[in-house]
Amino acid sequence: MSDKIELVDLQTQRQRLGTRIDKAIAKVLEHGAYIMGPEVEALERELVASCGARRAVTCASGTDALVLALRALDVGPGDGVFVPSLTFSATAEAVVIVGATPIFVDVSEASFTMNPDSLVAAISSSAALGCRPVGSIAVDLYGHPADYSELCEVSAVSDLWILADAAQSFGATLNGRRSGAIVDVTATSFFPAKPLGCYGDGGAVLTHDDALADLVESLRQHGQGADKYENVRVGMNSRLDSIQAAILLEKLSIFEDELAARQDVARHYADLLDGVVGLPSVAAGATSAWASYTVLVEDREAVMARLEADGIASRVYYPTPLHRQRAYQSLPAAPGGLPVTEELSARILSLPMHPYLDAGAQARIAESLQKATGGRR
Ligand SMILES: *Cc1c(COP(=O)(O)O)cnc(C)c1O
Repeated sequence: MSDKIELVDLQTQRQRLGTRIDKAIAKVLEHGAYIMGPEVEALERELVASCGARRAVTCASGTDALVLALRALDVGPGDGVFVPSLTFSATAEAVVIVGATPIFVDVSEASFTMNPDSLVAAISSSAALGCRPVGSIAVDLYGHPADYSELCEVSAVSDLWILADAAQSFGATLNGRRSGAIVDVTATSFFPAKPLGCYGDGGAVLTHDDALADLVESLRQHGQGADKYENVRVGMNSRLDSIQAAILLEKLSIFEDELAARQDVARHYADLLDGVVGLPSVAAGATSAWASYTVLVEDREAVMARLEADGIASRVYYPTPLHRQRAYQSLPAAPGGLPVTEELSARILSLPMHPYLDAGAQARIAESLQKATGGRR
């Protein structure tokens, strides 16, 4: 039987980089500045150059990037923050960590991202919830930017900010702007399987706002003032290791090429799978970073079993929306509930997606899906 096709392939990328990563790590071991070493500053400069944000402040994870951004936005007890339910738990978790209340909002059928109409409805109902609405976290699910033009317009009317959860979308674009520079404040993740990943945990806050970036720099290192032994506020320990920064610098040097390869893979999937499964759509003016290639199927269990039997990995991101999770089910949601989230979570299925997925593997995946669905959707 032919080789198993995995969801993500990090080994081919490692082989492509040859000894570069080993050498970059060895350099950190030699100079010994494991924490806040020169690689961290160099990476922050490269991230700024890559996405066009004014500042990049790295930290220990994407989850911490959300927490740091929320703390810098002065979010705390009594505040309500609108979040989608169709997302990774960290989006809502960060809001709870800072003591505020997540309010779940539905997503749009076409984009899988926060629905501006549902946000309007949630804003108008939030007074009754006993918390003060302050802003939203929009999630660029599967690598596709949220509908920021609409979301920003709706938010501005009520004087609310928007924080972008771009954990899956580093490299995506919207109307000529890169993820990280689309709205004022963005949190991203360098978890290994994200479009730009390190070999451990890592994240960054990207922003156009100098004052906010200064605050995040202080918060990530124990609320430091002039240095970490002067504490001007209560912060946390959330720095990116120098070794992870060194790895990310090497990976950034091939990132544009990998993004282009992901676009090719996505285009090829769209050709192969048209009429076989429900295809992900890309909004006008947007490009996706294709963190995953997520399609819609009817009899998901059967489709997954067929793929598995044919040696093809598939996964449901995410099988249970947050408003149905034990930890979050008591939290408020937009009036009318979250029908699109419910409907999509029963049908979504993520297929293998990475820059090194070749045409032969994609043909095998398409053939297996064809068998499973009988060519119907
Ligand atoms: C991965 C992810 C996070 C959290 O990032 P970590 O680096 O794993 O902490 C947050 N939000 C979304 C949407 C994610 O996919």
